[in-house]
Amino acid sequence: MEFASAASEKHEIVIIGGGICGLATALAPHRKGLKSIVLERSETLRAYGGGIGLLPNAWRALDQLGVGSRLRSMAVLLQGDIGVGMLPITQHLIHWFVALPTHLLSGDKFPHDPKYIKQMTLELIKDFPSNIQEIIELSDLDSLSATHLRYRAPWDLVLGTMRKGTVTVAGDAMHVMGPFVGQGGASGLEDAVVLGRCLSMAMSGIEGNSKKEKIAKIEAGLDQYVKERRMRVLGLSTLTYLIGIIVGSTSPLVKMVAGFALAILFRDRAAHIHFDCGRL
Ligand SMILES: Cc1cc2nc3c(=O)[nH]c(=O)nc-3n(C[C@H](O)[C@H](O)[C@H](O)COP(=O)(O)OP(=O)(O)OC[C@H]3O[C@@H](n4cnc5c(N)ncnc54)[C@H](O)[C@@H]3O)c2cc1C
Repeated sequence: MEFASAASEKHEIVIIGGGICGLATALAPHRKGLKSIVLERSETLRAYGGGIGLLPNAWRALDQLGVGSRLRSMAVLLQGDIGVGMLPITQHLIHWFVALPTHLLSGDKFPHDPKYIKQMTLELIKDFPSNIQEIIELSDLDSLSATHLRYRAPWDLVLGTMRKGTVTVAGDAMHVMGPFVGQGGASGLEDAVVLGRCLSMAMSGIEGNSKKEKIAKIEAGLDQYVKERRMRVLGLSTLTYLIGIIVGSTSPLVKMVAGFALAILFRDRAAHIHFDCGRL
């Protein structure tokens, strides 16, 4: 893996974005003996910010990327709740988030003043257990931010083109979803494994081929990747979309329809964590 700012170099695999998915996607071909370069718009790697909860499907992907055991030794148990997530990072540091439907916000919907963010959050979670309120009360002001969560709608994943020539998308760029089932980062890790597998199969033994043949094989490999991922991320995105409606809608009827769809489509609510993205 290599980090560089040069714009005019030639590389076989170029990954745009050094987030979880970008770095995992660089690791996958690296383990298959293929070189890649990561281009990140930030000047430094983000060592700050929160942790994320990783469920068994994510650990399977991390094992394939060869970093599962190392990360397991550093991981801590996640506690979660709909709308509020808390993740201990160290003995003295906790990552938390509160996901709220926008209709609960008033005035400046996405305030920048951390004092106001804290006050607004405490007001909105005043019925939550006191230990959760205390954690938020004790948060450093400069660690607080409020932002609008975006998602890619499930139907966009069915209809969307996910490859153009030899360019494809992975991670949030492919399937950004609500944080309700803790699968955004996990599915980015799965993308990395599947993309690494499809690319390495497509690129093995293509040295003697003409440029046109090489491109055709890489495009076929990327199509295979998109095919494998589309249904998986469609399922996850539909699950979070329906939960998002139940959490966020003001209409009891809409909530009921979404709850009904959830019960029909996702009888086993934990099935998504049993998913195995396969070997790298
Ligand atoms: C509140 C909250 C809680 C969450 N909890 C969980 C959880 O418990 N478990 C879980 O699995 N997931 C969780 N997620 C989702 C998870 O955080 C994201 O899905 C994951 O971080 C996305 O990783 P990514 O690499 O795809 O994208 P990002 O982390 O967004 O990385 C993209 C990178 O690309 C860079 N970039 C963008 N444009 C360019 C450009 N033009 N040129 C160069 N670089 C560029 C950006 O600077 C960034 O570094 C949560 C999300 C939220 C918001």
